[in-house]
Amino acid sequence: MIPGVRLILLGRQGAGKGTQCVRLSRHYVVPHISTGDILRAAVKEGTDLGLKAKEIMDEGGLVPDDIMIGIVAERIAKPDARSRGFILDGFPRTVPQAEALDEITAEQPIDVVVDLEVPRELVLQRLAARRVCQDCGTNYTATGREKMPWFCDVCGGDVVQRTDDTEEAINRRLDLYESQTRPLIEYYDKGGLLEVVDGTGSPDEVTPRVVAAIDGRPRVPVP
Ligand code: AMP
Repeated sequence: MIPGVRLILLGRQGAGKGTQCVRLSRHYVVPHISTGDILRAAVKEGTDLGLKAKEIMDEGGLVPDDIMIGIVAERIAKPDARSRGFILDGFPRTVPQAEALDEITAEQPIDVVVDLEVPRELVLQRLAARRVCQDCGTNYTATGREKMPWFCDVCGGDVVQRTDDTEEAINRRLDLYESQTRPLIEYYDKGGLLEVVDGTGSPDEVTPRVVAAIDGRPRVPVP
Protein backbone atom coordinates (compact mmCIF):
# COMPACT_ATOMS: atom_id res chain seq x y z
CA MET A 1 0.00 0.00 0.00
CA ILE A 2 1.29 3.45 -0.96
CA PRO A 3 0.06 6.15 1.45
CA GLY A 4 -1.50 9.24 -0.05
CA VAL A 5 -4.30 9.48 -2.60
CA ARG A 6 -6.55 12.13 -4.08
CA LEU A 7 -9.83 10.29 -4.22
CA ILE A 8 -13.49 11.09 -4.86
CA LEU A 9 -16.09 8.64 -3.63
CA LEU A 10 -19.42 8.77 -5.47
CA GLY A 11 -22.52 6.74 -4.65
CA ARG A 12 -26.15 7.10 -3.65
CA GLN A 13 -27.08 8.17 -0.14
CA GLY A 14 -26.83 5.00 1.94
CA ALA A 15 -24.32 3.34 -0.42
CA GLY A 16 -21.84 3.21 2.47
CA LYS A 17 -19.60 6.13 1.48
CA GLY A 18 -19.24 7.45 5.03
CA THR A 19 -18.35 4.04 6.47
CA GLN A 20 -15.85 3.26 3.70
CA CYS A 21 -14.30 6.73 3.91
CA VAL A 22 -13.43 6.30 7.58
CA ARG A 23 -11.59 3.05 6.73
CA LEU A 24 -9.94 4.42 3.57
CA SER A 25 -8.80 7.52 5.39
CA ARG A 26 -6.92 5.32 7.91
CA HIS A 27 -5.62 3.02 5.18
CA TYR A 28 -4.17 5.77 2.97
CA VAL A 29 -3.44 8.17 5.86
CA VAL A 30 -5.35 11.06 4.31
CA PRO A 31 -8.10 13.33 5.65
CA HIS A 32 -11.72 12.33 5.01
CA ILE A 33 -13.48 15.46 3.80
CA SER A 34 -17.25 15.05 4.02
CA THR A 35 -19.18 18.13 2.92
CA GLY A 36 -22.27 16.79 4.73
CA ASP A 37 -20.26 16.56 7.99
CA ILE A 38 -18.87 20.09 7.47
CA LEU A 39 -22.41 21.44 6.97
CA ARG A 40 -23.83 19.51 9.94
CA ALA A 41 -21.04 20.91 12.16
CA ALA A 42 -21.92 24.43 10.93
CA VAL A 43 -25.61 23.83 11.72
CA LYS A 44 -24.70 22.61 15.20
CA GLU A 45 -22.49 25.65 15.85
CA GLY A 46 -25.18 27.99 14.48
CA THR A 47 -22.76 29.78 12.12
CA ASP A 48 -24.05 31.86 9.16
CA LEU A 49 -23.36 28.92 6.88
CA GLY A 50 -25.25 26.59 9.22
CA LEU A 51 -28.26 28.90 9.34
CA LYS A 52 -28.34 29.07 5.53
CA ALA A 53 -27.87 25.33 5.06
CA LYS A 54 -30.20 23.85 7.71
CA GLU A 55 -33.53 24.25 5.93
CA ILE A 56 -32.14 23.12 2.57
CA MET A 57 -30.60 20.04 4.19
CA ASP A 58 -33.72 19.09 6.15
CA GLU A 59 -35.74 19.20 2.94
CA GLY A 60 -33.18 17.07 1.14
CA GLY A 61 -32.19 19.88 -1.27
CA LEU A 62 -28.74 20.94 -2.43
CA VAL A 63 -26.79 23.84 -0.94
CA PRO A 64 -25.80 26.31 -3.73
CA ASP A 65 -22.72 25.37 -5.75
CA ASP A 66 -20.76 28.59 -5.02
CA ILE A 67 -21.01 28.00 -1.26
CA MET A 68 -19.93 24.36 -1.56
CA ILE A 69 -17.06 25.12 -3.92
CA GLY A 70 -15.75 27.77 -1.51
CA ILE A 71 -15.87 25.33 1.43
CA VAL A 72 -13.99 22.60 -0.44
CA ALA A 73 -11.41 24.95 -1.98
CA GLU A 74 -10.57 26.23 1.51
CA ARG A 75 -10.40 22.74 3.02
CA ILE A 76 -8.17 21.13 0.41
CA ALA A 77 -5.77 24.06 0.54
CA LYS A 78 -4.88 23.07 4.14
CA PRO A 79 -1.45 21.52 4.71
CA ASP A 80 -2.66 17.98 5.49
CA ALA A 81 -4.60 17.74 2.22
CA ARG A 82 -1.86 19.42 0.18
CA SER A 83 0.86 17.17 1.51
CA ARG A 84 -0.94 13.81 1.76
CA GLY A 85 -4.07 14.06 -0.41
CA PHE A 86 -7.70 13.60 0.61
CA ILE A 87 -10.90 11.63 0.22
CA LEU A 88 -13.86 13.68 -0.91
CA ASP A 89 -17.23 12.37 0.29
CA GLY A 90 -20.39 14.20 -0.86
CA PHE A 91 -18.53 16.53 -3.21
CA PRO A 92 -18.78 17.10 -6.12
CA ARG A 93 -22.52 16.55 -6.43
CA THR A 94 -23.18 18.54 -9.61
CA VAL A 95 -21.31 19.04 -12.90
CA PRO A 96 -20.49 22.72 -12.07
CA GLN A 97 -18.94 21.52 -8.77
CA ALA A 98 -16.86 18.94 -10.68
CA GLU A 99 -15.69 21.57 -13.18
CA ALA A 100 -14.71 23.91 -10.35
CA LEU A 101 -12.86 21.06 -8.63
CA ASP A 102 -10.86 20.43 -11.81
CA GLU A 103 -9.69 24.03 -11.68
CA ILE A 104 -8.93 23.97 -7.95
CA THR A 105 -6.90 20.75 -8.30
CA ALA A 106 -5.19 21.67 -11.59
CA GLU A 107 -1.74 21.42 -9.98
CA GLN A 108 -2.46 18.29 -7.96
CA PRO A 109 -5.13 16.42 -9.97
CA ILE A 110 -7.55 13.80 -8.67
CA ASP A 111 -6.10 10.25 -8.99
CA VAL A 112 -9.27 8.18 -9.05
CA VAL A 113 -13.05 8.43 -8.70
CA VAL A 114 -14.76 5.42 -7.15
CA ASP A 115 -18.48 4.96 -7.78
CA LEU A 116 -19.90 2.73 -5.05
CA GLU A 117 -22.90 1.05 -6.70
CA VAL A 118 -25.82 -0.06 -4.54
CA PRO A 119 -29.36 -0.42 -5.97
CA ARG A 120 -32.00 2.11 -4.88
CA GLU A 121 -34.19 -0.54 -3.13
CA LEU A 122 -31.25 -1.58 -0.96
CA VAL A 123 -30.22 1.96 0.00
CA LEU A 124 -33.83 2.70 1.01
CA GLN A 125 -33.66 -0.22 3.48
CA ARG A 126 -30.24 0.90 4.76
CA LEU A 127 -31.33 4.54 5.21
CA ALA A 128 -34.45 3.58 7.19
CA ALA A 129 -32.19 1.80 9.71
CA ARG A 130 -29.34 4.35 9.63
CA ARG A 131 -28.43 6.02 12.92
CA VAL A 132 -25.50 8.34 13.45
CA CYS A 133 -23.49 9.69 16.38
CA GLN A 134 -24.27 13.39 16.73
CA ASP A 135 -20.75 14.10 17.96
CA CYS A 136 -18.30 12.03 15.89
CA GLY A 137 -20.48 10.96 12.95
CA THR A 138 -19.98 7.20 13.39
CA ASN A 139 -22.72 5.34 11.52
CA TYR A 140 -24.81 2.55 13.05
CA THR A 141 -27.58 0.24 11.82
CA ALA A 142 -30.62 0.06 14.11
CA THR A 143 -32.03 -3.38 14.85
CA GLY A 144 -34.81 -2.15 17.16
CA ARG A 145 -33.19 -3.93 20.15
CA GLU A 146 -30.93 -1.02 21.20
CA LYS A 147 -31.05 0.33 24.76
CA MET A 148 -32.33 3.96 24.74
CA PRO A 149 -30.84 6.51 25.04
CA TRP A 150 -28.26 5.06 22.65
CA PHE A 151 -24.67 6.16 23.22
CA CYS A 152 -21.83 5.97 20.67
CA ASP A 153 -19.26 3.18 21.24
CA VAL A 154 -16.50 5.43 19.91
CA CYS A 155 -17.06 8.71 21.76
CA GLY A 156 -20.10 8.34 24.03
CA GLY A 157 -22.15 10.88 22.03
CA ASP A 158 -25.89 10.51 21.36
CA VAL A 159 -26.76 8.14 18.52
CA VAL A 160 -29.80 9.49 16.65
CA GLN A 161 -31.60 9.39 13.30
CA ARG A 162 -30.50 12.19 10.95
CA THR A 163 -33.14 14.92 10.57
CA ASP A 164 -32.93 14.47 6.78
CA ASP A 165 -33.47 10.70 6.93
CA THR A 166 -37.27 11.09 6.66
CA GLU A 167 -39.00 9.20 3.84
CA GLU A 168 -39.80 12.44 1.96
CA ALA A 169 -36.30 13.91 2.22
CA ILE A 170 -34.69 10.56 1.36
CA ASN A 171 -36.74 10.29 -1.85
CA ARG A 172 -35.91 13.87 -2.80
CA ARG A 173 -32.18 13.26 -2.21
CA LEU A 174 -32.23 10.05 -4.24
CA ASP A 175 -34.05 11.84 -7.11
CA LEU A 176 -31.49 14.67 -6.97
CA TYR A 177 -28.73 12.07 -7.03
CA GLU A 178 -30.10 10.66 -10.31
CA SER A 179 -30.59 14.07 -11.96
CA GLN A 180 -27.60 16.06 -10.63
CA THR A 181 -24.93 13.60 -9.46
CA ARG A 182 -25.35 10.61 -11.81
CA PRO A 183 -24.04 12.74 -14.77
CA LEU A 184 -20.71 12.90 -12.91
CA ILE A 185 -20.21 9.20 -13.56
CA GLU A 186 -20.07 9.89 -17.29
CA TYR A 187 -17.99 13.03 -16.66
CA TYR A 188 -15.28 11.08 -14.82
CA ASP A 189 -15.54 8.07 -17.11
CA LYS A 190 -14.76 10.32 -20.07
CA GLY A 191 -11.86 11.76 -18.07
CA GLY A 192 -10.52 8.20 -17.57
CA LEU A 193 -10.73 8.39 -13.77
CA LEU A 194 -13.75 6.20 -13.00
CA GLU A 195 -13.76 2.88 -11.14
CA VAL A 196 -17.15 1.28 -10.51
CA VAL A 197 -17.21 -0.89 -7.37
CA ASP A 198 -20.00 -3.17 -6.14
CA GLY A 199 -21.12 -1.66 -2.81
CA THR A 200 -23.48 -4.49 -1.80
CA GLY A 201 -22.57 -6.77 1.11
CA SER A 202 -21.03 -5.96 4.47
CA PRO A 203 -18.53 -3.10 4.96
CA ASP A 204 -15.79 -5.74 5.46
CA GLU A 205 -16.60 -7.22 2.07
CA VAL A 206 -16.70 -3.84 0.31
CA THR A 207 -13.45 -2.31 1.66
CA PRO A 208 -11.05 -4.73 -0.12
CA ARG A 209 -12.93 -4.17 -3.39
CA VAL A 210 -12.46 -0.40 -3.10
CA VAL A 211 -8.79 -0.71 -2.10
CA ALA A 212 -8.14 -3.06 -5.04
CA ALA A 213 -9.79 -0.57 -7.42
CA ILE A 214 -7.65 2.30 -6.10
CA ASP A 215 -4.38 0.34 -5.95
CA GLY A 216 -4.94 -1.01 -9.46
CA ARG A 217 -4.62 2.48 -10.90
CA PRO A 218 -1.57 4.64 -11.48
CA ARG A 219 -1.29 7.38 -8.85
CA VAL A 220 0.76 10.51 -9.09
CA PRO A 221 2.87 10.34 -5.90
CA VAL A 222 1.93 12.94 -3.32
CA PRO A 223 5.06 15.12 -2.92
P1 AMP B 1 -24.58 14.02 3.02
O1 AMP B 1 -24.15 13.83 4.43
O2 AMP B 1 -23.44 13.92 2.03
O3 AMP B 1 -25.76 13.16 2.62
O4 AMP B 1 -25.07 15.56 2.90
C1 AMP B 1 -26.19 16.01 3.66
C2 AMP B 1 -26.80 17.21 2.97
O5 AMP B 1 -25.85 18.28 2.90
C3 AMP B 1 -27.24 17.02 1.53
O6 AMP B 1 -28.51 16.40 1.42
C4 AMP B 1 -27.22 18.43 0.99
O7 AMP B 1 -28.34 19.17 1.46
C5 AMP B 1 -25.99 19.02 1.69
N1 AMP B 1 -24.77 18.84 0.89
C6 AMP B 1 -23.66 18.09 1.22
N2 AMP B 1 -22.74 18.14 0.26
C7 AMP B 1 -23.25 18.94 -0.72
C8 AMP B 1 -22.77 19.38 -1.99
N3 AMP B 1 -21.58 18.98 -2.47
N4 AMP B 1 -23.59 20.20 -2.71
C9 AMP B 1 -24.77 20.60 -2.26
N5 AMP B 1 -25.29 20.23 -1.07
C10 AMP B 1 -24.54 19.40 -0.30
